[in-house]
Amino acid sequence: MSDVQHEQIVIIGSGPAGYTAGVYAARAMRKPLILAGYQPGGQLTITTEVENWPGDTEVQGPDLMVRMREHAEAMGARVEEDHVSKVDFQTRPFKIETESGKHYTADSVIISTGAQAKWLGLPTEEKFKGFGVSACATCDGFFYRDKEVIVIGGGNTAVEEALYLTNFASKVTLVHRRDSLRAEKILQDRFMKHPKTEMIWNSVLDEVIGTDMPLGVTAAKLKNTETGDVTQIDTHGVFIAIGHAPSTELFVGQIDMKDSGYIKTQPGTPQTNIPGVFAAGDVTDETYRQAVTAAGMGCQAALDAERYLAELEDEKSVETV
Ligand code: NDP
Repeated sequence: MSDVQHEQIVIIGSGPAGYTAGVYAARAMRKPLILAGYQPGGQLTITTEVENWPGDTEVQGPDLMVRMREHAEAMGARVEEDHVSKVDFQTRPFKIETESGKHYTADSVIISTGAQAKWLGLPTEEKFKGFGVSACATCDGFFYRDKEVIVIGGGNTAVEEALYLTNFASKVTLVHRRDSLRAEKILQDRFMKHPKTEMIWNSVLDEVIGTDMPLGVTAAKLKNTETGDVTQIDTHGVFIAIGHAPSTELFVGQIDMKDSGYIKTQPGTPQTNIPGVFAAGDVTDETYRQAVTAAGMGCQAALDAERYLAELEDEKSVETV
């Protein structure tokens, strides 16, 4: 086993919650270590324009995350692009192992591993993943220049992805299972007014149809949720945008979670059921899931971690008197 490195605060994850926690913990002189994963910056690195980050009327998601990382590092946080493979919160100090083979112990841990796109779970969705089926318009939109695509979902992600795809595709059809969108009104208006868009209400994706050699999508079967009728529409791309699931597999059995997989925290605080372990951002937030709310929770987690460490130090100094 390699040497074990001890840290006061380890932050797992590098989205707005993780970097903000890094800024605060560094300013508290705790020299936090941010284990950033292999995609530092989280979900905002695969978005384009962000228009609701206060202070920036419009900013590119990847640029914002580079700035957040630089900010945390400038304050004294250290960022390692390594993926945590195992945690042990049953012993103290806590234990953390990474895929590169590093071993850490930590007095406190802030979990900010975020969330990732959900899939429908259809066999044909799986078959064509990466070959016409995608969950990331900003990653794959470029491949659909002058082609027709469909987007499944009715939230902000679906409408934003659909609007982004109009930059490339000849036509973008949004398919939603109900008769009204969940997305913000401003996005809905933009989508409805766009000349390249079309809306299909009350429908779900039933099957993706395509060729085997080469693997590629040619059509989609949609099922009407009211009548049960199945219709087929021609399309080259199917973008799934039906929400997100928290990235919490690593913590199963280590920490209390809700049935939905989100980490449980004490109401209004980032405290988990393990004193010294805090959760911030999308990994614990089923409701708001915004960059700005994640950043706010990262701040709370770092402030609470600082209080926790100060109390630990007080206890130790009393013991040694
Ligand atoms: P949401 O949970 O908001 O929306 C998911 C959408 O997918 C809903 O319309 C839902 O339908 C639909 N859906 C879910 N499951 C299925 C299914 N099995 N079949 C068909 N449709 C399905 O997720 P988002 O990813 O859109 O957004 C997540 C959060 O991130 C939200 O809080 C959102 O506001 C935020 N966000 C904010 C952005 C911004 O402010 N610029 C950009 C992107 C996201 P139904 O409506 O019927 O439940």
